[in-house]
Amino acid sequence: MLPSSMHAMAVASSQRRLVRVEKPVPHAHGHEVLVRVLACGVCRTDLHIIDGELPPHRMSVVPGHEVVGRVVARGRQAGQFAIGQRIGIPWLGQACGHCAFCAMDRENLCDHPIFTGYDRDGGFAQYAVADARFCFALPDRYDDAHAAPLLCAGLIGFRAWRLAGAAVPRRLGLYGFGAAAHIICQVAVARGQEVYAFTREGDEAGQAFARSLGAAWAGGSAQMPPLPLDAALIFAPVGALVPTALAATGKGGTVVCAGIHMSTIPAFDYRLLWGERVLKSVANLTRADGEAFFKLVAELSLHTHVQTFALDDANAAIQALRDSTVSGAAVLVP
Ligand SMILES: [Zn+2]
Ligand SMILES: [Zn+2]
Repeated sequence: MLPSSMHAMAVASSQRRLVRVEKPVPHAHGHEVLVRVLACGVCRTDLHIIDGELPPHRMSVVPGHEVVGRVVARGRQAGQFAIGQRIGIPWLGQACGHCAFCAMDRENLCDHPIFTGYDRDGGFAQYAVADARFCFALPDRYDDAHAAPLLCAGLIGFRAWRLAGAAVPRRLGLYGFGAAAHIICQVAVARGQEVYAFTREGDEAGQAFARSLGAAWAGGSAQMPPLPLDAALIFAPVGALVPTALAATGKGGTVVCAGIHMSTIPAFDYRLLWGERVLKSVANLTRADGEAFFKLVAELSLHTHVQTFALDDANAAIQALRDSTVSGAAVLVP
């Protein structure tokens, strides 16, 4: 028997923090599944939502879009997952299926998307509903807490890595060595790439962490790598890293901005872009990205580093992420 109410952590407008709320356990209709949340990662996007850096889409929303949950109920049309199955709910909760972008297999750019933990309640709760067509089966080799950061940090990192031409770069720079970079570092190393990890100046623990995961070089973000990069992924929300990363990247190289929000990019000399360097952003994910990524991580033996917090301690997790004191990813466990 399912309880009728649950507790959740919801955005308190203009307070830059979450408040504990009681809510009815939602019902699964149509294509939806209801899951009991087993773990939910905390992503930097959640911070941008809580801090109002992204415009609010819904009052008192429950954030969380790295949801690992067990299916406890299904709508009539939600056939693809069994009751009792463990699944992952990602950021892209739904795409409209008929806009020009959806028609081009670019549902990550859908004109009418529904995002988990932004347009609809997410996983900072005991239960959550999701459109099953946008959820993923999860490989067994990752337990609940260790699987959670794969759902956004891993998945968006993977899309950014592919946009950089995953097969091409030999020397890959990662700017900001948090949840996403620590996963993509391992993927890139497993694919024979040399990883150059850039952290905040003086963050020796972060640099040692990067080396322990196979980075060939680690240093402060103002440092130049010993050799020009073939591609760079910027995970830190710091616009000043754009010219820095372009300067560190060789001719024909690609710099990808992987975050949903970034501070203003300072003006820079055209010579930093000259030489057919490419600068692009990555937005959201497609289901095809998820299928490819979870197939890959089922084959690789990645080790996600997580720091777990109780659901009621979500504000402590948010603060730790804000202070960059989390090594790897913060994960809430109800
Ligand atoms: Zn995210
Ligand atoms: Zn669409």
